[in-house]
Amino acid sequence: MHAGISNLTRKEVYRRDGYRCALCDCTHGLQVHHAIPRGHGGSNAVQNLITLCDRCHAAAHGLDLDGTGITADDMEQMIVEYLSDYYLKYWAPYAYQNGDGGG
Ligand SMILES: [Zn+2]
Ligand SMILES: [Zn+2]
Repeated sequence: MHAGISNLTRKEVYRRDGYRCALCDCTHGLQVHHAIPRGHGGSNAVQNLITLCDRCHAAAHGLDLDGTGITADDMEQMIVEYLSDYYLKYWAPYAYQNGDGGG
Protein backbone atom coordinates (compact mmCIF):
# COMPACT_ATOMS: atom_id res chain seq x y z
CA MET A 1 0.00 0.00 0.00
CA HIS A 2 1.64 3.16 -1.15
CA ALA A 3 -1.29 5.51 -1.53
CA GLY A 4 -0.29 9.12 -1.32
CA ILE A 5 3.02 8.95 -3.19
CA SER A 6 2.77 11.13 -6.29
CA ASN A 7 4.02 9.86 -9.63
CA LEU A 8 6.60 12.64 -9.60
CA THR A 9 7.97 11.53 -6.24
CA ARG A 10 8.00 7.91 -7.35
CA LYS A 11 10.03 8.83 -10.44
CA GLU A 12 12.43 10.85 -8.38
CA VAL A 13 13.04 7.91 -6.06
CA TYR A 14 13.67 5.57 -9.01
CA ARG A 15 16.02 8.09 -10.58
CA ARG A 16 17.97 8.63 -7.35
CA ASP A 17 18.45 4.89 -6.94
CA GLY A 18 19.44 4.42 -10.58
CA TYR A 19 16.31 2.47 -11.60
CA ARG A 20 17.46 -0.54 -9.62
CA CYS A 21 16.80 -2.13 -6.28
CA ALA A 22 18.81 -0.24 -3.67
CA LEU A 23 19.65 -3.46 -1.86
CA CYS A 24 20.34 -6.08 -4.52
CA ASP A 25 20.74 -4.06 -7.76
CA CYS A 26 17.97 -6.01 -9.45
CA THR A 27 16.15 -3.99 -12.12
CA HIS A 28 12.97 -6.06 -12.28
CA GLY A 29 9.72 -5.54 -10.42
CA LEU A 30 10.73 -2.24 -8.90
CA GLN A 31 8.49 -0.72 -6.26
CA VAL A 32 8.75 2.20 -3.88
CA HIS A 33 8.88 1.38 -0.19
CA HIS A 34 8.60 3.57 2.91
CA ALA A 35 11.73 3.30 5.09
CA ILE A 36 9.75 4.53 8.08
CA PRO A 37 6.17 3.23 7.75
CA ARG A 38 3.45 5.86 7.46
CA GLY A 39 1.93 4.47 10.64
CA HIS A 40 5.18 5.25 12.46
CA GLY A 41 5.26 8.85 11.32
CA GLY A 42 7.16 8.38 8.08
CA SER A 43 6.54 10.92 5.35
CA ASN A 44 5.81 10.54 1.63
CA ALA A 45 8.96 12.52 0.83
CA VAL A 46 11.79 11.02 -1.22
CA GLN A 47 13.98 10.94 1.88
CA ASN A 48 11.69 8.32 3.37
CA LEU A 49 11.32 6.30 0.17
CA ILE A 50 13.53 3.67 -1.39
CA THR A 51 13.48 1.64 -4.61
CA LEU A 52 13.16 -2.09 -3.96
CA CYS A 53 12.58 -5.04 -6.25
CA ASP A 54 9.50 -7.11 -5.52
CA ARG A 55 11.50 -9.75 -3.63
CA CYS A 56 13.32 -7.27 -1.41
CA HIS A 57 10.06 -5.43 -0.91
CA ALA A 58 8.36 -8.60 0.23
CA ALA A 59 11.26 -9.30 2.59
CA ALA A 60 11.02 -5.75 3.95
CA HIS A 61 7.44 -6.59 4.87
CA GLY A 62 8.47 -9.82 6.55
CA LEU A 63 7.80 -12.28 3.71
CA ASP A 64 10.77 -14.57 3.28
CA LEU A 65 10.11 -15.70 -0.30
CA ASP A 66 13.52 -17.23 -0.91
CA GLY A 67 13.91 -18.88 2.47
CA THR A 68 17.02 -16.80 3.12
CA GLY A 69 16.16 -16.22 6.75
CA ILE A 70 16.46 -12.47 6.26
CA THR A 71 13.96 -10.78 8.54
CA ALA A 72 12.07 -7.54 8.16
CA ASP A 73 14.35 -6.13 10.86
CA ASP A 74 17.45 -6.97 8.80
CA MET A 75 15.89 -5.31 5.79
CA GLU A 76 14.93 -2.23 7.76
CA GLN A 77 18.48 -1.96 9.03
CA MET A 78 19.88 -2.06 5.47
CA ILE A 79 17.30 0.41 4.21
CA VAL A 80 18.00 2.88 7.01
CA GLU A 81 21.76 2.54 6.43
CA TYR A 82 21.33 3.15 2.69
CA LEU A 83 19.25 6.29 3.19
CA SER A 84 21.18 7.70 6.11
CA ASP A 85 24.42 7.18 4.14
CA TYR A 86 22.88 8.92 1.19
CA TYR A 87 21.57 11.94 3.06
CA LEU A 88 24.02 11.86 5.96
CA LYS A 89 22.95 14.13 8.80
CA TYR A 90 20.27 15.75 6.70
CA TRP A 91 18.20 12.60 6.54
CA ALA A 92 14.66 13.51 7.65
CA PRO A 93 12.29 10.60 7.06
CA TYR A 94 9.60 11.69 9.49
CA ALA A 95 6.53 13.64 8.52
CA TYR A 96 6.63 15.66 11.72
CA GLN A 97 9.97 16.40 13.27
CA ASN A 98 9.75 17.97 16.67
CA GLY A 99 12.82 19.56 18.13
CA ASP A 100 12.47 17.56 21.26
CA GLY A 101 14.72 18.71 24.04
CA GLY A 102 17.86 20.70 23.80
CA GLY A 103 21.27 19.36 24.52
ZN1 LIG B 1 16.16 -6.34 -4.39
ZN1 LIG C 1 6.62 -1.24 1.35
